[in-house]
Amino acid sequence: MAGVIYVAYLNGYAPAWADFLTEAIAESFAPEPVRRFEAELDLAPAYASERRQYHATLILAALLRRLPEAGSRMVGITSVDLFIPVLTFVFGQSQLAGAAAVVSTYRLRSQFYGLPPNEGLLLERTIKEAVHELGHAFGLVHCADQSCVMHASSYVEEVDLKSAEFCAACHATVCAPAER
Ligand SMILES: [Zn+2]
Ligand SMILES: [Zn+2]
Repeated sequence: MAGVIYVAYLNGYAPAWADFLTEAIAESFAPEPVRRFEAELDLAPAYASERRQYHATLILAALLRRLPEAGSRMVGITSVDLFIPVLTFVFGQSQLAGAAAVVSTYRLRSQFYGLPPNEGLLLERTIKEAVHELGHAFGLVHCADQSCVMHASSYVEEVDLKSAEFCAACHATVCAPAER
């Protein structure tokens, strides 16, 4: 029995395209079941006041405590700015071959770069980053194929250059019949 993937909208964050994101994740990870989920997390312990950002690894720990059942995975979707200590920011973070991932839309929004809002582009970027971070949770590492969704992206331009799809090799790994 495959584990459920929960797409968890955090602390009331409910973008108009939430169902589209959930569906896109379901298509990428089919036949794994994917469910929309709402979660209230206490983010205060993850807040670093000197950086005005939230420590992504601590959010992963909080998400893990919300997993409804063993064998499932959860990707948190948040609008707060995320970091890990060695980097200025991250679009997302996940546990390699683990159960939790998190993605922030904060730096995926056009407005962050001084451009007009573009919800379609924001959805597209969020799909790529959510599939990417969940890919890590499925054990995938970064892929050299520049069009593969598992290609690393440090800047939003790099997010825009890659596709939302796994290359054949990454897809085979995600869909490999395993014990899960
Ligand atoms: Zn990555
Ligand atoms: Zn790949």
